[in-house]
Amino acid sequence: MKPSARPEGCVIVDAIGRGGLAIDIFTLDTGLLFPETIELWETLERRYGLTIRAVKPAQNVAEQAARYGRALWERLPDRCCELRKVEPLRRELSRLDAWISSIRREQTTDRASARTVERDTPFGLVKVNPLVHWTSEAVWERIRERGIPVNALHARGYPSIGCEPCTTRVAAGENPRAGRWRTFEKTECGLHARIAVVPKET
Ligand code: SF4
Repeated sequence: MKPSARPEGCVIVDAIGRGGLAIDIFTLDTGLLFPETIELWETLERRYGLTIRAVKPAQNVAEQAARYGRALWERLPDRCCELRKVEPLRRELSRLDAWISSIRREQTTDRASARTVERDTPFGLVKVNPLVHWTSEAVWERIRERGIPVNALHARGYPSIGCEPCTTRVAAGENPRAGRWRTFEKTECGLHARIAVVPKET
């Protein structure tokens, strides 16, 4: 299971924690997370008495700067995401048979065809998306109902949160993901590239 800084990830951690499910939970620690995201990570661990493992890139931020120049995300964000997110996730998933993600169909056009259970061809395993049909309202209703901890940045105008250098506030009426890579066409980090489907689903 790979939760994220998103409220959806917190909903899934809540379900795992409440159910006492023996599911390995990890997060991609890019070394560029907001302090509020680290705080949420620690809060979730305390609240549910579980461990969220850190999966890190091969190079820390300073080593990446020495190799590719400073602030690679300002010039080549796809390359930066590949190094700091996709490659570490690929390495982690290579030893697993299935993983759970918190994506929802309405988040992006690329995710609009996501299924509850899919074959994740790029990473070579089964991918389970339990919240794929959930609306944003349903997610927030669950959070309020159960008092699930979420990232403090949501209340400050950040509906979608990634690495600090690539995440900005979103204005009223903007797409919730408009604050991600704002100066680029980029909309995805590459973790949820579209994939082949296993079961038929209506
Ligand atoms: S979100 Fe930005 S800083 Fe984070 S890995 Fe991608 S390009 Fe790099």
